[in-house]
Amino acid sequence: MNGVNQDMLPDQLHQALAAIVGPDRLLDVDNDRFTYSYDGSFLPLVPAHRPDVVVFPRDVGEVVRIVRLCNDHRVPLVPRGAGSGRTGGSIPVNGGVVLSLERMNRILEIDRKNMMALVEPGVRTMDLGRAVEDVGLFYPPDPSSWTVSTMGGNVAENAGGARAVKYGVTKDYVLGLQVVLANGAVIDTGGKAVKNVTGYDLTHLFVGSEGTLGVITKILVRLISKPKAKKTLLLMFGSIDDASECVTDMLSSGIVPASAEIMDKTSIQAVARFRKVDIPVEAEAALLIDIDGPQILLDDQAGAVTEMARQHQAVQVSVAQTSAEADELWVLRRTMGPAVAAIAKNKIGEDISVPRAALPEMIRRLGEIGRKHGLTIAVFGHAGDGNLHPSILADLSEAGARERVDQAVAEVFRAALEVGGTLSGEHGIGITKKPFIEEALGKEGVRALRAVKHALDPNGILNPGKIFE
Ligand SMILES: Cc1cc2nc3c(=O)[nH]c(=O)nc-3n(C[C@H](O)[C@H](O)[C@H](O)COP(=O)(O)OP(=O)(O)OC[C@H]3O[C@@H](n4cnc5c(N)ncnc54)[C@H](O)[C@@H]3O)c2cc1C
Repeated sequence: MNGVNQDMLPDQLHQALAAIVGPDRLLDVDNDRFTYSYDGSFLPLVPAHRPDVVVFPRDVGEVVRIVRLCNDHRVPLVPRGAGSGRTGGSIPVNGGVVLSLERMNRILEIDRKNMMALVEPGVRTMDLGRAVEDVGLFYPPDPSSWTVSTMGGNVAENAGGARAVKYGVTKDYVLGLQVVLANGAVIDTGGKAVKNVTGYDLTHLFVGSEGTLGVITKILVRLISKPKAKKTLLLMFGSIDDASECVTDMLSSGIVPASAEIMDKTSIQAVARFRKVDIPVEAEAALLIDIDGPQILLDDQAGAVTEMARQHQAVQVSVAQTSAEADELWVLRRTMGPAVAAIAKNKIGEDISVPRAALPEMIRRLGEIGRKHGLTIAVFGHAGDGNLHPSILADLSEAGARERVDQAVAEVFRAALEVGGTLSGEHGIGITKKPFIEEALGKEGVRALRAVKHALDPNGILNPGKIFE
């Protein structure tokens, strides 16, 4: 049980939690427990992964009392946002309490003068994005899951999105946090002072901590001014190398696209079929590019990008003339996940990140791994920052298919490490990548992680079984 030895009977736990949140904000019947036993990862359902109880605190005071109760009685406690995580982070592998932050969902302040927002963890990413855009400001991190994912989940996973190439990821915007530690103490890290080197950078220790170090109850983020205008281009190429080199040329010429998304041939064909659109399906690679900034610069930049694409033998260049046309092009990328899933019985989506220059090599290796195991691997992702989402396509009901997929996944991670990359660009480690963490960080690296975990959560109650054993 990862050091967690619950010393409270389920009935006692239920009563003690009901005394904190009341019966209306507590779930413990089988169907509800089942609902909170899985997330957006591709892990098989496991009956033992059901929580004993799910609770929905409404304020930090309730979170403190729940965390203290769990710590005093060694009950595993798993913070949870929307459950859209891709690596099993919010799955209660040891049962215990799922602490859902869904009801702590208020935008507490949009501070226009300082260009910052203070939110509770259950605020949906999209809701924050829209609220700040209404006042002319901009919160750039845009995970594709932003219609459902919560800010707490984004911080805990250090989520990124298509705009990361120009604007960075969640960690680049988090200025401060309120966190409830495993012993129930509340700390406030960082703050509105932009320059702040008082003590260790605890704020960024909690960013990407996957619910294992504390429960995030408030988030202060930096905002920027909303880009004035945007242009969208779809570029089709005869080779992955040409597409990657085009991105490199763009960046070295000083044009930093807001997004530069890459899709391989399998992905292009899948989305053409799924959306019934007429795009050159014989192309080997596509780039979906957004450039943004003052309107006066955009036409010139779009012209320069078109010219670079032509120099790299682009087979087709489309420049959206209206925002409706741009949206149509983006639908291709946004529906890539389901489009690829539709061409196979099962899709196992992964997330790796490699140096940008290693993209062609990595994509070649993915092809080799697929061929070796008799599997198709579709590849799409964020070319601008080398973050790829290989989707392994299989029929898991076939004999031996699960084993072949598991081997292929392991080889994908190893190949990413070999080309100088890492296990995860944005989805975290959770359960699915845990077996590979030592290969990525080394023994001493993992020992350092454990030391931090032990210092902050000596009883190991917070999200046990994640990141490392
Ligand atoms: C279709 C789809 C597309 C996706 N696209 C992207 C993408 O483009 N970029 C990207 O980065 N990710 C993407 N994801 C993954 C996922 O949406 C992100 O990891 C997101 O940040 C998870 O948010 P959540 O609220 O669902 O968190 P959950 O899945 O509920 O939790 C994720 C982790 O955060 C912890 N946690 C949640 N809230 C808190 C809190 N308040 N305090 C402490 N720990 C907490 C949990 O314990 C867990 O370990 C995608 C997922 C799906 C299903």
